[in-house]
Amino acid sequence: MIYLDNAATTPLDEAVLNKMLPFMRQSFGNPQSQHSAGRAAANAVISARDKTAQILGCKSEEVYFVSGGTEAGNTALKGVCAAHGNGHLIVSAIEHPALIESAKDMQKFGFEITFLKPNSRGIVSAESVSAAIRPNTIFCAVMAANNEVGTIQPVKEIGKVCKARGVFYYCDCVQTAGALPFPTEHCNALGISSHKFYGPRGFGAMFIKNGSKINRLISGGMQERGFRGGTLNAAAAVGLAEALEIAVNEREQNNKKITALRNGFLKKVLTEIDGAELNGDEFLRLPSNANISFKGCDGENILFLLDLNGVAVSTGSACSAGAVSPSHVLTAMGLPADRVKSAVRFTFGKYNTEDEVFAAAEILKKVIKKIKNP
Ligand code: PLP
Repeated sequence: MIYLDNAATTPLDEAVLNKMLPFMRQSFGNPQSQHSAGRAAANAVISARDKTAQILGCKSEEVYFVSGGTEAGNTALKGVCAAHGNGHLIVSAIEHPALIESAKDMQKFGFEITFLKPNSRGIVSAESVSAAIRPNTIFCAVMAANNEVGTIQPVKEIGKVCKARGVFYYCDCVQTAGALPFPTEHCNALGISSHKFYGPRGFGAMFIKNGSKINRLISGGMQERGFRGGTLNAAAAVGLAEALEIAVNEREQNNKKITALRNGFLKKVLTEIDGAELNGDEFLRLPSNANISFKGCDGENILFLLDLNGVAVSTGSACSAGAVSPSHVLTAMGLPADRVKSAVRFTFGKYNTEDEVFAAAEILKKVIKKIKNP
């Protein structure tokens, strides 16, 4: 299989797995336990937290281990709502469903929501955030980079606006972790998910600035200083920290390699396939992302045929109850319905090779030809 769906998830790095295994085998104790097996796991969690904090650029006690990007987004949005009781929230219209659906949940409890539109290139401006802030605005979510089109958002400027107006700014960094620096100093909270940077699935971390007005979401034991109950997965914490460290150390070389792969693919596809158009800003985008519409084709159909031919990609459409709904991101960008429907996301990773990418482009050409001339 040629795996070009690295924004969905990435394979586990062997080095990360090797660091995790001892905490699944010998040192399997509960980090809350008082005996030596528990203490070994607890010490590993302490080291993982310290390493994560150092990389994020915050204090160790500002790092909370969670189950991933979805929990991080839910915790930030709902936790701030719970701490205030009422108010207005700004959520960009291109956020992950973790934020959009959380906002809709809170709307049912009387919170006012503004879903902030991006421009046609998939960028949400700091000016639009500023204009949307009301006297009762308590929360703003604009992600560091979008998961469908890879567009990089002006998080520093948005952070400045929010700070000046006393608004809690949550920055979803799930797609940028490893690829771009963390905007820790510009936000009140951020979230990462380790399976997006060659770490274990089902695990993530949040930075929450000390002194923030936010309530916990998951009540239980005293884990995570009482903020997030539930037995900690020590092996996953070790894996996240190791994967993060590797990602940051390899950042320059990986970004360079992945950009070259993506650009080679794009050049070939845009010049050799009639009607292929890139979605999202050409320059302000993650190195890994190429979101392309194919005029006159159906994205789901392309995905299916690519899969049959051994190439794994994705579309931005969501499947629920057997029906496919169009990408909320491309729709919010104001793209015409046929362009939205014909979009496919190709995302490249550090394990992809030039040969694979070339082969995928050739297979794609044949697939599009077949769809157009059945
Ligand atoms: N936020 C973004 C931008 C994502 O791309 C994803 C996953 O695709 C998530 C949040 C959810 O992360 P997780 O799968 O860890 O729940």
